Amino acid sequence: MQEREALRLKLGDRSLERSTQLATTPDSLEEITLASLSTENLYRELLSRLGEDPTRDGLLDTPKRMVKSMEFLTRGYTMDANEVLHNALFDVEYDEMVIVKDIEFYSMCEHHLLPFFGKAHIAYVPSGKVIGLSKIPRLVDMFSRRLQVQERLTREIAEAIEQAINPQGVAVILEAEHLCMMMRGVEKQHSTTTTSAMRGVFKEHQTTRHEFLSLVRRNG
Ligand code: ZN
Repeated sequence: MQEREALRLKLGDRSLERSTQLATTPDSLEEITLASLSTENLYRELLSRLGEDPTRDGLLDTPKRMVKSMEFLTRGYTMDANEVLHNALFDVEYDEMVIVKDIEFYSMCEHHLLPFFGKAHIAYVPSGKVIGLSKIPRLVDMFSRRLQVQERLTREIAEAIEQAINPQGVAVILEAEHLCMMMRGVEKQHSTTTTSAMRGVFKEHQTTRHEFLSLVRRNG
């Protein structure tokens, strides 16, 4: 396959030296497919390329830790909304706004693999069904523990709630700080990015939208 061919890693002399311990057999050193390397070894190689010595004490177990940490930070890929919301949808007569605010979230931007994190505020107006309150933060967690852009994360949360309970409307606001902005530049260190998704009554009725916004802005 051509794609596979493209992934073939031709190791230069310098990399050869560094990568001796990466090879499964010395004979395969000439051409190693990236896919055949363990994630741990890929991280080890990455550390070398950053100019580090992956064999020094402090870094010896770093590839192993990185694998575990990345698995945790992207565990949202192994979850789906049906599973998260299982047994947590309830029939009710209630048709006033349900609001859960200040939900902490931690995600990673897909452009730089650097964290962005902040707070999510979520509201919906039910139409016969509600979601168990503790499940809303879990839904946020599921989508944020993936490689994301803030806009999509916002939309995905709103869509999942829409699909689960078909409410009269749903609103999601995310306020986040992005380390890729804060660490790489000097100018935007304290800026917060706000994104929102307004559906149904939150989009159509200004009063509903304003009620939500004023509840979110009221601190505490
Ligand atoms: Zn970024």
